[in-house]
Amino acid sequence: MGQMQVDHIWPKVKGGSDEVDNLCLACELCNQYKWAKTTGPDPESGQETNLFNPREQQWGKHFVWSTDGILIYGLTACGRATVEALRLNNPLAVTVRRNWVIAGWHPPKSN
Ligand SMILES: [Zn+2]
Repeated sequence: MGQMQVDHIWPKVKGGSDEVDNLCLACELCNQYKWAKTTGPDPESGQETNLFNPREQQWGKHFVWSTDGILIYGLTACGRATVEALRLNNPLAVTVRRNWVIAGWHPPKSN
């Protein structure tokens, strides 16, 4: 989904630092959807919720793959808000993952 980019978890426009604990790798598409967001609405409750922080939180506590490995589901308010805010199941991502599954590259064996 494009080249990997360095994302500022807490955006520079909101005073986020260039220190490594504020940086993560994100694909171009996710990074574009994230932009300067740090919160998003949980689609279940409508409550504004902090987005997933890959430096401080564990993926497997907040997300799960669908049984076919193609869709990402949020398990928590944070997970659900992140799936929506970053549009993690956008048509391009779903198409790419479907091909990764066919190739045997996906889903990852551990999180
Ligand atoms: Zn991505």
